Amino acid sequence: MPPPSTDLPDPAPDPAPDPAPDRGAAARPPSVDALARSLGGSGLPHAICVDLAREAIAAGDVAGAPARAEAYRRTLLSPVVNATGVLLHTNLGRAPVAVSTDARAVNVEFDLATGERGSRQRAVGQLVARLCGAEAAMVVNNNAAAVLLVLAALAPGRQVLVSRGESVEIGGSFRVPEVMEQSGARLVDVGTTNRTRLSDYRRALDRPDADVALVLKVHPSNYRVEGFVEETPVAQLATLGVPVVADIGSGLIDATCPWLHGPPPTWLRDEPAAVQALADGAALVTFSGDKLLGGPQAGVIAGRADLVAACARHPLARALRPGGLVLAALQSTVLAYLHRRVVQEVPFWRMVATPVADLRSRAESLAARLEGVLDARAVALDALPGAGSAPGATMPSYGIEVRGDLLDRLRAADPPVVARAREGRTFLDLRTVDPTDDDHLARALTAAASVA
Ligand SMILES: *Cc1c(COP(=O)(O)O)cnc(C)c1O
Repeated sequence: MPPPSTDLPDPAPDPAPDPAPDRGAAARPPSVDALARSLGGSGLPHAICVDLAREAIAAGDVAGAPARAEAYRRTLLSPVVNATGVLLHTNLGRAPVAVSTDARAVNVEFDLATGERGSRQRAVGQLVARLCGAEAAMVVNNNAAAVLLVLAALAPGRQVLVSRGESVEIGGSFRVPEVMEQSGARLVDVGTTNRTRLSDYRRALDRPDADVALVLKVHPSNYRVEGFVEETPVAQLATLGVPVVADIGSGLIDATCPWLHGPPPTWLRDEPAAVQALADGAALVTFSGDKLLGGPQAGVIAGRADLVAACARHPLARALRPGGLVLAALQSTVLAYLHRRVVQEVPFWRMVATPVADLRSRAESLAARLEGVLDARAVALDALPGAGSAPGATMPSYGIEVRGDLLDRLRAADPPVVARAREGRTFLDLRTVDPTDDDHLARALTAAASVA
């Protein structure tokens, strides 16, 4: 008998030669090369197939080789259908962005007017600055890099005041005190964890040993404190006479959301926005490109031209700079805002702006298609912004509820479908699914139902 396979469903016929008919003789394993060639249909490079064939033979698992190849293929980056209802799913790359470029040279650092070397930061920097109402802006790899660079460039060896209520950890490894330490700036805690007033900052500024370079205001993106709480708004901090840097995190550009028809959604109520923070007197704002902005992973530093220039001159700026692909994707996103085509062209905002009635009718027609195939019904759901934005806030949505936990089977679809399960039921939220993927959902659910 062939050795037992892995517990993955075996997608392909056994490539191993038939074992010797007489039970006593051990089956001779196939050659590595033959087994590797039999895995060619997986689309994996031959060198990888050879490695996998070798491993399978060494493990006495020749029959499991195709499953191993399939498992390996599934570790590679590939498009997935996000049916979780979490719009900015950090594990799924946060904001979905379309990127298409030809294999052509781009004027990333070339000034077409003079024919000389140009600034990598110029093109996107000027557009982002215009969008935020800032004098200048620059782009780095992510917001963690933006905060690190601002502190390293503007406060080396000097004090930075941070409210105890804002000395937070965001997303696992971004911890304000640790970023501060890495930057070489010195953290000075002010106030208390639940209440920090302007007078707390003043007291720190008036100390005899004060050497304050900046006040850093950090939006505690991924949690909220309720009850007896007080924070000092940017407009008040701006009266202290020290540059205020506001890490707004999520990259909401304008609290009034002029790109939406109608008022801003209520779930955005507590999110700080770049335009308003700068108008209130922040010297700089920093934010992510791939959260509420809806662009690629990037970090933006926007505000006073002299401070942005100091950041751009710092040696770390080179280490943290984004590549041309990211800059091109960010430029497209920012141009969509400036052209007022956000809902049409920025997938995140398209998902936000989809009326729940549209989601409902898609859910109902999907449920109707699945009738008799599996126990599915259209249900109202709550979608989440995700990426730590607007914690606790939800937006009304609609989707499909299916009996049973089908998560594994849905992930086995091609492209994989990522859903959520609770108490033996599977939920597919359509707010995060492009309508062109509804057919695929129907097929994936049908296939999932047919696997016993
Ligand atoms: C998300 C976030 C960060 C980290 O941003 P990345 O782009 O993920 O590096 C830092 N600060 C705040 C306030 C955030 O919300």
